[in-house]
Amino acid sequence: MNDSMRRAAAILLVILGGAALWWAGKGAQASASANDAMVATIAAARDRAAANDPRLKPAWRFEEGGWIYVHLEGDPGAMGYQHGYLLGPEIEDGFAAVSAGMTRSTERDWGFFRKAAQEMLWPRIDVEYQQELEGIVEGLRARTGSKLDLYDIVAFNAFEELPDYYVPWLDKQQKKANAPNLKSPGNCSAFVATGSWTKDGQIVIAHNNWTSYKNGERWRIVFDIAPKNGYRILMDGFPGVIASDDDFGINSDGLMVTETTITQFEGWDPNGKPEFVRARKALQYAGSIDEYTKIMLDGNNGGYANDWLLGERKTGEIAQLELGLRAHKLWRTKDGVLAGSNWARDPRVLKEDTPKFDPNDQESSPNARRARWEELLKENKGKIDVTLAEKMLGDHADTAEKKEDANERTLCGHVDGSPRGVKEWDWDPYYPGGAVQGKATDGTMAKDMRIMARMGHPCGGDFLAKPFLAAHPEYAWQEPYLRDMKAGPWTEFRSGQASKE
Ligand SMILES: [Zn+2]
Repeated sequence: MNDSMRRAAAILLVILGGAALWWAGKGAQASASANDAMVATIAAARDRAAANDPRLKPAWRFEEGGWIYVHLEGDPGAMGYQHGYLLGPEIEDGFAAVSAGMTRSTERDWGFFRKAAQEMLWPRIDVEYQQELEGIVEGLRARTGSKLDLYDIVAFNAFEELPDYYVPWLDKQQKKANAPNLKSPGNCSAFVATGSWTKDGQIVIAHNNWTSYKNGERWRIVFDIAPKNGYRILMDGFPGVIASDDDFGINSDGLMVTETTITQFEGWDPNGKPEFVRARKALQYAGSIDEYTKIMLDGNNGGYANDWLLGERKTGEIAQLELGLRAHKLWRTKDGVLAGSNWARDPRVLKEDTPKFDPNDQESSPNARRARWEELLKENKGKIDVTLAEKMLGDHADTAEKKEDANERTLCGHVDGSPRGVKEWDWDPYYPGGAVQGKATDGTMAKDMRIMARMGHPCGGDFLAKPFLAAHPEYAWQEPYLRDMKAGPWTEFRSGQASKE
């Protein structure tokens, strides 16, 4: 008998034991309530068996500042089990919200995404991440009795790349009539600075995540990962997903990573390796800018194409990897600042990967924020530290209108307040999306694996679902999923943190 068979047999025994106890206690009453009692007894037996699973021993979870911190440790299967078990309810909830958005925007049913996960993505996932994904399913089922299976979880992990990269490519291949207007998302405002630009000469890196509020309000996990192989990781993330996915993380070899997506990117390689796998692998195994670049390029499928902003704590060097599919470019410096707000700049990437993007439209969200980063970072040259970075992530200066006005053109995005929306991403007027949380760290903090994080708008503003839906009935379909997004305090998290201190 192998380990998993032995475990299954042990769980079965506990369940049979529970059933026998019930049977002895209740006799053969065939009423509905007796049936409920049996179901509850079996569920309780399952909970006990699962909670005693030795794989859970090195893992823990606590909540602070609006975030849920989870510590995962061990081999890939064990880490997956811990992830699925400790975040079971949040995975079920996140899956419901995300999958509803995926099927609605693409006009494809969930079976379509499962098929893509099974046939296209799964065979191209490294074995260790296959084991981690299988572990998530096992842990989730043990915790909640979930009906979700492996291909649900794989498709869910690809929620940034299947709907807005694969589907538009496929629609074009299939010459689909009346195909929905799908556009790659514009996620995030970020920068990385070093040398004479920062207060202490070391690296400062900061990022706020832009998504729909529906998804973003659920993007509240701090993952502290101690894998059997590779480096220790501290990153933010989404329940059930093995990569950070909005991408802010540091590892114990000194790499600091974030990104912003490339607006109006087009392209997909069905034979490539999923982006969520490459991004997780790069954060786990790369100790340098060169190693990071190599892993991201290996099997590049074009999914979730980003401008990666990287920092090497040990050398003080920073880099920008503009990763298109047909073209890519790497810039690097030991004295400078690199910012991102969803625009590409390499002429080849612009021409070959983002043919519809207009880098000269000063009124668009990416370009207006680019102008704001340039002026804000220049104004603060030599003064940049984590405290200032936190303030910058909450900035509300609109460079197109030359005034303070929280909207789609400000570093802290509030598209729900914009009558324009963001046409480049197919976000309609007053789209309930924008900056949903922020993170920052520097060389000193990264050395002992610490980051600052704030849940909700980085400016501290709250989003309230009820008045929004009353004012904007066009978004009523989101009502089952859209919740208040209240800002928490800037909160420090570190690797190995046991609980509130
Ligand atoms: Zn704001």
